[in-house]
Amino acid sequence: MLKIAVLGSTGSIGKQTLDIVRNNQNHFKISALTANSNIQLLCEQAKEFKPETIAIADISKYRQLKRTIDSDIRVLSGVEGIIEAATQDSTDLVLSAIVGIAGLEPTYNAIKKGKRIALANKETLVTAGSIIMTEAAKHNVQIIPVDSEHSAVFQCIQNDGNNIDKIILTASGGPFRTKTYDEITKATVADALNHPNWCMGKKITIDSATLMNKGLEVIEAKWLFGVSSDKIEVCIHPQSIIHSMVEYVDGSIIAQLGIPDMRLPIQYALTYPHRTKVTGTKLKLSEVKKLTFEKPDNKRFPCLKLAYDALQQGESACVVLNGANEIAVNSFLQRKIKFTDIYRLVYSVLEDHNSMVVSSINDVFLIDDWSRNACKELLKKGGYN
Ligand code: NAD
Ligand code: MG
Repeated sequence: MLKIAVLGSTGSIGKQTLDIVRNNQNHFKISALTANSNIQLLCEQAKEFKPETIAIADISKYRQLKRTIDSDIRVLSGVEGIIEAATQDSTDLVLSAIVGIAGLEPTYNAIKKGKRIALANKETLVTAGSIIMTEAAKHNVQIIPVDSEHSAVFQCIQNDGNNIDKIILTASGGPFRTKTYDEITKATVADALNHPNWCMGKKITIDSATLMNKGLEVIEAKWLFGVSSDKIEVCIHPQSIIHSMVEYVDGSIIAQLGIPDMRLPIQYALTYPHRTKVTGTKLKLSEVKKLTFEKPDNKRFPCLKLAYDALQQGESACVVLNGANEIAVNSFLQRKIKFTDIYRLVYSVLEDHNSMVVSSINDVFLIDDWSRNACKELLKKGGYN
C-alpha cells in the first residue's frame, strides 16, 4: 500500500490524482491532503479519503475547517502546515501539485525527508533546479515527472538513458496557434482559457497560450534529465498525441503516445516502475488519422525564446522569469493588462535583472521577491517595453 500526500488536492492535477486513488484503493492510500483556500472541497475529500492530516494555506480558513472536520484528522494551516503535511512520517510519496512557486518549499522539505516525489509543480525545478536535484541525489530521492512531456521523455529513456542526442518536447500550440499577432493582442481571458486539448488550472492554461509553459518545461527538462538547452527542442504538435520524444545519437527517435489525459502520466508516476490498467478511453490511431508537426513561431509567441534566454543567462534569471510571469499572468486573469503585455512585462523585468548566484532556497525567495516587486512597479508605472 503506497501512502500518498497530495499537495494541491483541490486543483486540476490534485483531483485527477484522487480519481486514480479512488479507482485503485487496493494499492494507494491518502496520508495527507492540502489546499490553498477551498475548504469545502478539501472537507469533502477528507471525508472520502480519511487522511491522517489536512492542511490549508489560508490561515483565516483554519477555524472553519477545524470545526467541520472529524476530530481524528489532524488539521494544519499556513505554509508551515503545508510543509508538515508534506513531510509527515507515514507518507511514502508526495504528489506535488500546488501551482506556482508556492510548491517549492513543501517539495524541497519532502525531498530532505527522503520522500519519493511525483512532480507536477514545474515551478519547483524552474526556480531551484540545481538545489532540488542536488538534494534529491543527496537523500537518494527519486523525482518522477508528472508533466506529460517529461513523463513521456522519462518513459522513452527507460531502456537507455545514455546516448541521447536531443530531447524533443511537443506542444499543442495553444488556442492562438493559427491566429495572427494582431488577433493575439486582442485576446480576452476567455479566449486564452479556451485550450484546444487539455483541461487544466488557469495559470498553466494561460502559460500554454503564451507558450511560456513550454519555456518553463524546457527549463524543467534541463534539470530532470541533465541536458543542456541546445539539446532541448520544441516542436508544435497540435493533436497532443505524441507527448514528447527522445532522439538518440544514431538518429533513432523514440516517442511516447497516448490520449491527452493527465491521468496517464499521474498514474505512471504513482506506479513506476510498474504499469497498471486504466479505466476509460484508449488511443485509437485510426481515429486520429494524422499527426502533424510545426516549428514554434518566436515572433507571435516570444515567451518561449525568453525562457531559453533566461536559461542561458543563468539560474537567477529563471527565478526572475517565473516570478514576473506569475504576477503578469495574474494581472491578465484580473483583466488589468492585455494578453501580449505578459511578455512585455516579463521581458522588462528580466532586462533590469543582474545575474547572481543562487545557492540556497532563501536566495531563490529573495530573487523571486525582487522579481515580483519589480513587475508590480512596472504595472503601476506602465511604460514597459
Ligand atoms: P490548479 O490551479 O488547478 O490547482 C492548484 C492547487 O494548488 C490547488 O489545490 C490550490 O488550492 C493549491 N494552491 C494554490 N496556491 C497555493 C498556495 N499559495 N499554497 C498552497 N496551495 C496552493 O493548478 P493545476 O493545473 O492543477 O496545476 C498544478 C501544478 O501542476 C502547476 O505547477 C502546473 O504547472 C502543473 N501541471 C499541471 C497540469 C494540468 O494538466 N493541470 C499539467 C502539467 C503540469
Ligand atoms: Mg506539460
